[in-house]
Amino acid sequence: MIQFQYIIIDWYHKNKRDLPWRTTKSAYVIWLSEVILQQTRVEQGLPYFHKFLQNYPFVSELAAADEQEILNDWQGLGYYNRARNLHKTAKEVVEIYKGEFPSTYSELLKLTGIGPYTAAAIASFAFDEAKAVVDGNVYRVLSRVFDIEEAIDSTQGKKTFELLANELIDKKNPATYNQAIMEFGALQCVPVNPDCAACPLQFQCLAYQNKTITQRPVKSKKTKVTPRYFVYLIELSPSQTIRIEKRKEKGIWQHLYQFPLLEFTSIEEKQSYLASLKSKFISKEYKHILSHQQLFAHFAVVEPSNKIPENQLEIALSELSNFPIPRLIDKFWEEDSGLVEGL
Ligand code: SF4
Repeated sequence: MIQFQYIIIDWYHKNKRDLPWRTTKSAYVIWLSEVILQQTRVEQGLPYFHKFLQNYPFVSELAAADEQEILNDWQGLGYYNRARNLHKTAKEVVEIYKGEFPSTYSELLKLTGIGPYTAAAIASFAFDEAKAVVDGNVYRVLSRVFDIEEAIDSTQGKKTFELLANELIDKKNPATYNQAIMEFGALQCVPVNPDCAACPLQFQCLAYQNKTITQRPVKSKKTKVTPRYFVYLIELSPSQTIRIEKRKEKGIWQHLYQFPLLEFTSIEEKQSYLASLKSKFISKEYKHILSHQQLFAHFAVVEPSNKIPENQLEIALSELSNFPIPRLIDKFWEEDSGLVEGL
């Protein structure tokens, strides 16, 4: 085990990327980076990390911010629940802990939006608690080096991996070890075609010896992906105003703004609606993939109805960028707003 720790840490010192959150002991900065980087690539997350630190240098400023402001800053990162939880956690840190993050794994876990992974990351990186982080990278490395057949998404599997990860952690150096194993998974033991010939763990790696690398890690459940069929109506007036509404219902994009939306139960139903629609312009189909849903959306420019429904706002076309909107609408707007403006 000592050899495993030694090899991983040695590899890390030679190969690590220079990332700004690795040079700090600030729990706030570490937490911010962890929340931004969940389900996000480092290159995509970096500008958001800098933006958030610039706009909210302290947790008290994040807690005092308006939710819409935070959603605006988050725009483009997706998974907006993370942004809402970010805000809730910041408020709790200010209200319950007087603006100082708690310093132990078990106390950190009590905060809204902080799960075992983030709690372990903050506890080890900021406070040097010997608590192992177990993220997708760690699951992959451990499942391969120890050739573990147990599914990483089963209750028993999760326990097995957590136990093993905590046995392996370098207790004198938990922060560096945790960073090292995650970085090793991100750069060396990658999901597809890892360069095993250049790997310092090759001689210990049981999956390499047993030729089971492509089967590790094992997952038991297949994610069910539901297709959804959308038509967004852009009610464009002669004075170049449009209407938007805030999504109130729970689920994707809660509290973000959108054009009035119609949803259909099948592609046929949507096609027949579009064929009968009196529209000045119908966009191409925009496809947007989320973890459990595939969205197929069209945008249609139509005459505005006489009365504005209570839940809608009328705004100038140019004002849309002041509102937090889903990435799907943003994509359409980047490509086709010129066409709409010219109608
Ligand atoms: S030998 Fe290959 S599969 Fe095993 S740890 Fe190294 S990179 Fe990963």
